[in-house]
Amino acid sequence: MKFGGTSLANAPRIKNAARIIQRSSQENKVVVVASAIGETTDQLVEIAELAKKGDLERARKLLNRITLSHLKIARLVAGRGDTRELVARLEQLSTDLERTMEGIAQLRELTSRSRDYLLSFGERLSTPILAAAASAVGLRTRALTGAEAGIATDDNFGEAKPLLEISYHQVHQRLEPLWTRKVIPVVTGFIAATVEGSITTLGRGGSDYTATLLAAALGADEIWIWTDVDGLMTADPRIVKNAVVLRNISFGEALELSYFGAKMMHPRALQPAGQKKIPVQIKNSSRPNQTGTLVSANESDNGRKVVKAVSIIRDVGIVTIIGSGMMGAPGVAAKVFQTLGSNNVNVMMISQGSSEATISCVVARRDVERAVRALQLALLGQGYVDRIAEERDACIIAVVGSGMKGTPGVAARVFGSVARKKVNVRMVAQGSSEYNISFIVSEKDGPEAVRALHEEFGLGTK
Ligand code: ADP
Ligand code: ASP
Ligand code: MG
Repeated sequence: MKFGGTSLANAPRIKNAARIIQRSSQENKVVVVASAIGETTDQLVEIAELAKKGDLERARKLLNRITLSHLKIARLVAGRGDTRELVARLEQLSTDLERTMEGIAQLRELTSRSRDYLLSFGERLSTPILAAAASAVGLRTRALTGAEAGIATDDNFGEAKPLLEISYHQVHQRLEPLWTRKVIPVVTGFIAATVEGSITTLGRGGSDYTATLLAAALGADEIWIWTDVDGLMTADPRIVKNAVVLRNISFGEALELSYFGAKMMHPRALQPAGQKKIPVQIKNSSRPNQTGTLVSANESDNGRKVVKAVSIIRDVGIVTIIGSGMMGAPGVAAKVFQTLGSNNVNVMMISQGSSEATISCVVARRDVERAVRALQLALLGQGYVDRIAEERDACIIAVVGSGMKGTPGVAARVFGSVARKKVNVRMVAQGSSEYNISFIVSEKDGPEAVRALHEEFGLGTK
């Protein structure tokens, strides 16, 4: 089971998590995965940026705030016998964190490798605290980092890819013996290490992924994701007030939703679970008796609804390659994707005008500049591409549901309902699975488009 940041946000929440672990471990063998406490990872991102600019004063203030809040929580949740050791461990981590920050400030350089190292402190601080809280309610626990638990990744810092075979083997070897001794492993989410031992992260929201990887390695019967809402909902409840919890959803649908919903679950987290057909329960740690959402291999009946949910990815941009000479010139598309790929730009959506005069790619906003520069270098001045255009204020809207497969007229309803709200659609793509239709609108139109679709397909409470 994995606890998200809000489920560990303060001492009472952590004690609540400890009780949930206690209850579940009476009848089950449990591995616990911990996210960073509350907003710690965001604060660490800020520290990294401040240090890079050399603003040590503000960085240090933020760091002190993180240290103090963790120490305070630790003293409130640890059993009397454990407090001293736990505090010493947290202080040591805080000193390491400070040194890292100072190193970045000194060099005014933040590499993706040093950034991952800095971000790792969120989970490295939270995990021993949760382990101590679980010990305080009478459980035997052991705090481990992702690497100690056996997860190895490649060296694509910031978005590292787990090396499945070796990870599964190592996790099995290291965690099973703890169970045999009735010890509950409490593992840092989000972080792992390369085979050489450098700390990596699995991408933001990566604790979900840690949980599913460990579960797949151990052949778990179930994965439980404890979060701050009652489950996966028909839309982001912050955008759509009457969004409802989905009781059942298939891996295929959940995959599309998490890929296009960005925030609720790490986009790759469902892969290990889906591959090994391990059902995933998403539940609210404040209301553990609510049913929550079950993600499983079963195709759900969907309540005869064609569309199940609507999601949004913010902070994306469109890069468009324009050139009349592209018409009929073979290999242009290949060159475009090769260039973007070798510059580590992930393409989230593509479309090509049928006249072949344009190719548009949707990428994360932070990648727009790099993408444009790389494409200019690779394509301009060769006679077929005239210019590369960019638009930065975009977001992706995705409509997801297995009922869409083979149902005619869904696209017409999608675009009709958005058009009635006078929202302009800039680009369209349909996932090859037919589980989703996704399109691009301007950043400011995003929430309105989500609400229009939610209503069109009758997804909310009446
Ligand atoms: P955690 O810290 O538990 O990992 P996250 O903040 O990563 O939690 O994800 C949970 C949040 O995702 C919810 O509070 C909700 O605001 C947001 N969210 C976005 N889309 C959805 C959705 N379709 N269903 C449920 N929550 C969603
Ligand atoms: N703490 C990490 C993040 O905020 C990982 C996670 O919470 O899943 O992205
Ligand atoms: Mg999350």
